[in-house]
Amino acid sequence: MVKKSLITFFCFLFLASGVFAKTEQKNVILFIADGTGPTIMHLLMQYAKLAPNSPFKDRTSTLEKLINEGKLSLVYNDTAFSVVTDSAAAATQFATGHRTFPEAVGVDKDSNAVNSVLITAKEQGRATGVLTDTYVLDATPAGFFGHAKNRREYTILSKNLLEVKPDIVMGGGFNHFVSKNNLASGALTNILPKVPYASEITPKNQDDKTFENLLKSGYAIVFDEKSLNKTKANKIMGLFAAEGYPFNIDGLKNAPDLTTMTKKAVETLSKNKKGFFLMVEAGEVDWAAHTNDGATTLREMLEADQTLTYLKNWVDTHPNTLLIITADHDTGGFGFNYKKLTKEEKENKMDEGYVQGKYDYIAPETLDKLLEQKASFYILGQKFKALPKAKQTPQKAREIINENLALNLTLDQLGLEENQKDFSFEKSLKKASETLGLVWNTKQHTSSPLIAIFYGAPVKAPNIMHNTQIAQIIREYFNEEQ
Ligand SMILES: [Zn+2]
Repeated sequence: MVKKSLITFFCFLFLASGVFAKTEQKNVILFIADGTGPTIMHLLMQYAKLAPNSPFKDRTSTLEKLINEGKLSLVYNDTAFSVVTDSAAAATQFATGHRTFPEAVGVDKDSNAVNSVLITAKEQGRATGVLTDTYVLDATPAGFFGHAKNRREYTILSKNLLEVKPDIVMGGGFNHFVSKNNLASGALTNILPKVPYASEITPKNQDDKTFENLLKSGYAIVFDEKSLNKTKANKIMGLFAAEGYPFNIDGLKNAPDLTTMTKKAVETLSKNKKGFFLMVEAGEVDWAAHTNDGATTLREMLEADQTLTYLKNWVDTHPNTLLIITADHDTGGFGFNYKKLTKEEKENKMDEGYVQGKYDYIAPETLDKLLEQKASFYILGQKFKALPKAKQTPQKAREIINENLALNLTLDQLGLEENQKDFSFEKSLKKASETLGLVWNTKQHTSSPLIAIFYGAPVKAPNIMHNTQIAQIIREYFNEEQ
């Protein structure tokens, strides 16, 4: 009798736990660090570990903790027809599981529309969201809701977005929802006082109805951090810049940073009892790497790491959440290299007492030095170009570079000659960067393998995979019996 009631009791427990498990959420957060090959991830990790003034507790970035505590895979990112990819094809491949061609969004290699894991999640009743610090119709977010043969078909992509209507959409890119006629006819008059970047709006949508559809879409539309923090809506469209965000190093003005957007997105989406899918893109790592700007790249990675810190803590307290961190491709082929010393440099270094021999192997202090840079190469280039022609002298170039990179380089070290007429400011920035031991192979994307980290809910992930398998892993996780 006792035995029988015990069995009944355990059966009850077993059934009850099944019932409770069914009510639990199942969430996937996919974090894409755009353009972040392993060496750019390592720049952040080395800064945290080796910089004498590293602000990191235990000298360990959250990215490193996630690698250490999660599951690590190596990822191929070739497309159906190429060895190197762009963000559009990469996003399409990990969002939909289909191989495609570069610059294509949400279509397979034969240009047929294919659905993403965001659509899978939505069909299952989960909340969905995409957010980025570039613009919301940019290739990476668009891969989750759009279908276009070319990533620059913003009119099509805006229509796709307003049809799919993910619950959360945040980033820059108001330009892509506005037509020239909208602006000329005064359709924006009521909105403009709420838009802090109103003077920068340059219409890029070909369809006059898109803007009206945006207003009718049922979203709470917000244009700055303050209004974002205030809204309690379940459907939020945050358009925080006319185009992409400025770089973190240059200041975000009224826009919320990546961590603030992510926090709001997670808080809003997690109200759904069935769970959610969220794609977070740290998109400007790619832009910084395209300009071969190490300090700006590091700053973007530091922001990405803050977001990862928030996400790791959230996942640790919400066990049915799978956090995936990966990149779409590497940009720049970055690294530090050692460099040969001139006779004079060798003597100076020997006097300082820490370098022997013919080479400078780059001291850890260099990592701190990077954080002394005051503005991005992009802004410095703009600043130099804005000078009257007569003032665009080698001396002025040297002054701007030394002041903003906290260096004391000679004209010769910057590859400049006194009274030189035609020279490239950009090349001098490159020379300045090389004095710190930074090297970049290219201003474009490379075919470097990528890493993916799977953290939180356990999943079967092969040690080496193609990026299309990421979509499969997400679908399998969402489709598993709860
Ligand atoms: Zn890129």
